[in-house]
Amino acid sequence: MAKTDIKNLPIKELESALKRLGMPAYNARQIFIWLYKNRVSDFEQMTNISRPSRRLLAEQFEIPALKIREKKVGRDHTAKYQFGLQDGSAIESVLIPMTRWHTLCVSTQAGCALGCKFCLTGIKGFKRNLSVSEITGQLAAVMAENPGTPLSHIVFMGMGEPFANYDNTLKAIDIMTSEYGYQYSHRRITVSTAGLVPQIKRFIQESKANLAVSLNALYDDTRTALMPINATYPLKQLTAALKDYHTKRRGWITFEYVMIRDMNDGIAHAIQLAKLLKEFPFKVNLIPFNEHWGTGYKRPDEEHVRAFQEYLVSHTIACTVRTTHGEEIEAACGQLGGIKIPGEEEK
Ligand code: SF4
Repeated sequence: MAKTDIKNLPIKELESALKRLGMPAYNARQIFIWLYKNRVSDFEQMTNISRPSRRLLAEQFEIPALKIREKKVGRDHTAKYQFGLQDGSAIESVLIPMTRWHTLCVSTQAGCALGCKFCLTGIKGFKRNLSVSEITGQLAAVMAENPGTPLSHIVFMGMGEPFANYDNTLKAIDIMTSEYGYQYSHRRITVSTAGLVPQIKRFIQESKANLAVSLNALYDDTRTALMPINATYPLKQLTAALKDYHTKRRGWITFEYVMIRDMNDGIAHAIQLAKLLKEFPFKVNLIPFNEHWGTGYKRPDEEHVRAFQEYLVSHTIACTVRTTHGEEIEAACGQLGGIKIPGEEEK
C-alpha cells in the first residue's frame, strides 16, 4: 500500500488521520513541530512520541522533501530555484532580497492552463496541480538553503494560478500560518490571481491572507487579448467581487499591472484605472514587461511608465513601479517556467 505524504495534511486532517490509527489528537501538534520547526526527516527522530506510535507512523506515512535541481543567482542576489518533482515535472521559486526582508515567490502548479499571452508559464501550458507538500516544500528547501536569512514574506505569484489549485493553496497557507507550523502571519502572505471570480468569493470567506489581482488592462477587449480568462470573468464581474472583498474584509487590494508597449501603457488605461478607485481603495504595482523568448511583446518606454505612474499618483492612488529582479536569470515576473525540457528547442 502506498504511503501518504504526511506534509499534505493540515493539522486538523492530521488529527483525524491519527485518531483513525488510535493515536491521540495532540500527537498532531507534536508531529507538526517536528516537521516544520525542527525539520526532521525521519519519524524515529520524533522522540516525544512513543516508540510503537513512531513505528505506526512510519508504516502509514512518508516525509518527502523537495530537491533543488538548479539555483541561479542574479546580479542583485535574486535567486531562482528549480525543483525536480517525482513525476519528472519541474517548478521554480524565486527568493527576492529586499532592503529589510526577503520575499519568497512560490509556485502552485506545474505550468498553467490560463494561457496569459505575456507569461512564459502560460505559453508552455499546463501539467498538473502541485500537492500541498510540494507548495510548502519550496519554502522548506529555500529556508534550509539560507539559514539565518529573514524570509519574512511569501507571495503566491510563481508558476500557476493559485485559485485553480484552490484547496491545496489554502491548505498550504494553513500550514504556513499554523502556530505549530511555520507560524507566518496572514498579513505576510499574498495570493495573486488572474481573476477567478468564484474562488475570490470563497477566499473572502475562508482566508485572512492578502489578495493581489493581476489586472493588466481596464478594457475587456485588451484584457481578453492578454488574459483569455477575462472572457469567462469579465471586468464587471471581477470588480464586483473585489468590491465585496473590500466591504467584508476592509482590506486593500493590490493590482499587478504588467505594462506592455502599445498594448496597455497608454494614458487612457491610467484614466480608467483611476476611475476604479472611486469604487474601492487599492494600490497599483506597475511591472514594465520583462521581454522573453516566448512572445514578441515589448517593454514600454520609460516615459510611458513615468507618465502612467504620475497620472495615478496625481489622483491619490498608491502606485509603485516594481523594480525588476533577476531579469538576466529569467526569474522576473512573467519569465518563470521557461524550464528547458531535455530535447526541446527554445522558440
Ligand atoms: S500570469 Fe499567472 S495565471 Fe496567467 S498564465 Fe502566467 S501563471 Fe498562469
